[in-house]
Parts: sequence; C-alpha cells; structure tokens
Amino acid sequence: MHTPDYIQAIADGSVDPKILREIGFPWSAAMAERARRSVGATIAACRTALAEGLAANIAGGTHHAYADRGGGFCVFNDAAVAARLMQAQVRRGLQVAIIDLDVHQGNGSAHIFRDDPTVFTLSLHGQKNFPFRKQPGDLDVDLPDGTGDAAYLEALEHALDALAQRFDPALVIYLAGADPHEGDRLGRLKLTWDGLEARDRRVFDWAWQRGVPLALAMAGGYGHRIEDTVQVQVNTFRAASDYARRWQNRAR
Ligand SMILES: [Zn+2]
Repeated sequence: MHTPDYIQAIADGSVDPKILREIGFPWSAAMAERARRSVGATIAACRTALAEGLAANIAGGTHHAYADRGGGFCVFNDAAVAARLMQAQVRRGLQVAIIDLDVHQGNGSAHIFRDDPTVFTLSLHGQKNFPFRKQPGDLDVDLPDGTGDAAYLEALEHALDALAQRFDPALVIYLAGADPHEGDRLGRLKLTWDGLEARDRRVFDWAWQRGVPLALAMAGGYGHRIEDTVQVQVNTFRAASDYARRWQNRAR
C-alpha cells in the first residue's frame, strides 16, 4: 500500500524534511513506532470485526496520509493499509467502505482508492476546512461552517442512503473523528455531544442492520478543553460497546 521508499524513510529517519513539515511533527524512533503500531491496531480491529462484528482501535484514522507521503499529523494511512491487507488475506476484492466522519476530508484515502472500485470512500467534512485542496472520493459531502446536529444528521442519512445504493460492503472502516464537536478548536462545525452520539449510533446501526462488520478508528479531536474531546470519544466507545454486545448475541 505505502511505497517501500516511504516506509523505509519513516523507519530510518531519512524522510524528506518537506514531507516531515507536511506531517507536522518531528521524526523520532518513537514517532515511527507509534505510527506503525497505530496501523497494526486498525488491522487488528478489522480482523476482529470480521470475526466478531465490531471492534475498535483507540488510535488511528490518519486519513491525510498518501501512499508515498504523510501530512496533517498523519504518517501512515491505517484504514487504507488495513483495507488492502484484508483483501490480500481474507478475500480478494473484499468490498470495503471507509465511512470517514472526521471533520477534515479524507484526502489521502480518496487519492489512494481513486481508481479502485472495491473500496468506497465516503467523507463528510467541513467545506472550508483543511485540506484546502481536497481529493475527490467516491462520495464527498461538504458542510458549511457552523453546521449543527439536525443538518449534519440529515446529510449523514442521505450519504448512507447513497452509499447503500452504490456499494455493497463486506466491511466498514469507520473514522469517528471527535472534531465536528462545537468545542473543537479546528472543526468549525457545531455538533453537540448528543448529535455526535446520534451520529455514531446511526453508523453502527446502519452496519448492524445490514450485517456488515465494522471496525472503528479514532481520528481527530482538538478541543479547547481536552476533556470535551475525551468525552466525545468515550461516548463513541460506549455506543460501540453496545453494538459489540448486540453482535455477540446475534445468531451468525
Ligand atoms: Zn480531523
């Protein structure tokens, strides 16, 4: 998935300073290791989801990374690597939908899968937000600054309907970014805790109703108060555990 040169450069610290500036934090052995493990955790979540229905990575969702370079605090694109690996190890052509509800567009994922009909990239994001040059994905929904719960949830509903009409996933990778929250420094949207919980539950329910396994990754969150971001994420994991229990009780 990632180019061998880029993986090597991250591993040994020889990465181009220009790329490092795009990523936004300095190279260290720990930074490289963290990026690797975060990819590993999304891979593990996908494997577990395919076996048990729902699983999560409490990191990952680094969707701004391209095949040959990182950017926007993203070193490797965990969802993309995991999708390709599941296709290599579980079933060739396994249909994967990446439902990316981080407030920033999933430009790396969109670019990586631009010519790949087996991976559907859906992104709901702030129109005026980073990345300023967006990459066309399979379904992009641009939201105006200040979008609140009702408009967001309606847009999500339309997007999930369109996804269902156009694609039949055997696995969903969900990027549950906390940054659409109204208390986020970078998000520019106005979702409340209730709105974000409704968002998460709608995605879990959409997959559950269709019997599609779902792996989730955390993606971004930059609250003015870090406690607010943590609360969004805790709510996401609480809702996820409800659905994981449902999956466990399901006759499969
Ligand atoms: Zn983000």
